[in-house]
Amino acid sequence: AAKQGPRTVLVIGGGPGGYVAAIRAAQLGAKVTVIEKDRLGGTCLNVGCIPTKCLLHSAELVSRIREQGAEIGVRVSGLEVDFPQVIAHKDEISKRLTGGIAALFRMNRIGRVEGEASFLSPNSLSVRRKDGSAETMTADAVIIAAGSVNAQPPIPGLRENPNCIDSTGALSLEKLPESMVVIGGGVIGIELACAYSAFGTRVTVIEALDHMLPMLDAEISAVGIEHLKKRGVEFHLECPVQSVEPSPVGAKVVCRDKGGELLAFEAEKVLVAIGRRANTAPLNLDAAGIQNDRGRILVNDRMETNVPGVYAIGDCVFGKAMLAHTASAMGEVAAENIMGQPAVYDQKTNPACVYMEPEAASVGLTEEQCREKGIDYIVGKFPMNANGKALILNGGEGMVKMIADRKYREVLGLHIIGPRATDLISEGALALRLEATLDELITTIHSHPTVTETVREAALHAEGRAIHT
Ligand code: FAD
Repeated sequence: AAKQGPRTVLVIGGGPGGYVAAIRAAQLGAKVTVIEKDRLGGTCLNVGCIPTKCLLHSAELVSRIREQGAEIGVRVSGLEVDFPQVIAHKDEISKRLTGGIAALFRMNRIGRVEGEASFLSPNSLSVRRKDGSAETMTADAVIIAAGSVNAQPPIPGLRENPNCIDSTGALSLEKLPESMVVIGGGVIGIELACAYSAFGTRVTVIEALDHMLPMLDAEISAVGIEHLKKRGVEFHLECPVQSVEPSPVGAKVVCRDKGGELLAFEAEKVLVAIGRRANTAPLNLDAAGIQNDRGRILVNDRMETNVPGVYAIGDCVFGKAMLAHTASAMGEVAAENIMGQPAVYDQKTNPACVYMEPEAASVGLTEEQCREKGIDYIVGKFPMNANGKALILNGGEGMVKMIADRKYREVLGLHIIGPRATDLISEGALALRLEATLDELITTIHSHPTVTETVREAALHAEGRAIHT
């Protein structure tokens, strides 16, 4: 029989990790209080996933009309980007969604405390409210969901220059910049490069490594980068930034290329997107003896820290994907374990998505990873230009790549670039969860005309029985 769980739960942070954990714990009968120092919804709803996708949606409409309008018979004269309205629309969507969380908290009788939490001991927290007052709170279990903040690289001249912004700054500009240098070719840098280039900003991306979007299969990311190059985005790889200098334009970024030459790029705005770090410094983890690696909390697959009764989830944990759905999945696992329902977090089914144009998404093993692990695998591919719906949606740019175990035909990975890739990837995640075989995907009927057919076609191709290629 399930043991009786603790009844009181304190959740630190109201982002997609914390608010989902709170609701799940409340559903299972816990008395839950969420401590949030800023706004409900965390990074994701206020300055992350949702705001970027809003900008990207406006951007995609513009680029579709510019890049495909004549071909599809939609000629627009005087097409204009009303940038302040783009930003205002984004703010409106964020507001609606964060208001929705407040309503869910009321429905689930979840308490809210506005303030900043820090540990006094393993089971007690001090919460400092905005008015300066502080109170001590205790509970049977604590879930740390403190998230992350943008990392600032120690580049000389960067901090002092007001035209150097982070992703949060790039989501609240008052005016569309004419030019932008993006430092960092990861997901956040590329998504914002995609949005701003569609709006008409001249964008240059600078990356210290030898490739962009390292979380994607190399063949898939190459298609996305090619698309952005065609749109005029410039990419400089293996070009670590040395310094930022003042410039009448805005800022001058000085880099050293592979050959040792110094290159300088001037732009109105410089977006620093080199990654994020755990937001645990104010938590005083040492007072509770919580093990961490440079602020990232160490957890097992039940989301337990080394301290009994203290759990950690989301961006503030060590060694896991820093994504909203990851944080939410971990939140449900933590809440269930606290309430006596054993659960584990399974990284295997966790998709990674890039909402550029065309969209890209990946779940499971890449070819590179299969080779490293010595797995005997087969690959099936299908080009988007052989699918009717994809041809209609974006001219057929992109591809699907299915990876399966050679002997058992079990699906090991799905990698997609093309229209609606970030929605399509769920079929791959489900296949991995169910340990599905290629034959099981093939014998599932996919509706026509949809891009979902491309996933089935990739499975057919892996089996050497492609119909449409
Ligand atoms: P957060 O969302 O960071 O929430 C943590 C909360 O805790 C915050 O509200 C903070 O104020 C609060 N807090 C912190 N410390 C304390 C304290 N001591 N006391 C009280 N409150 C505290 N992920 C995706 O899956 N898809 C995307 O498309 C995507 N796009 C992104 C775009 C950008 C520009 C950025 C920056 C991120 C994006 N992410 C995306 C990542 C995603 O936002 C994060 O993975 C997700 O928000 C992590 O959730 P979390 O609950 O762990 O932390």
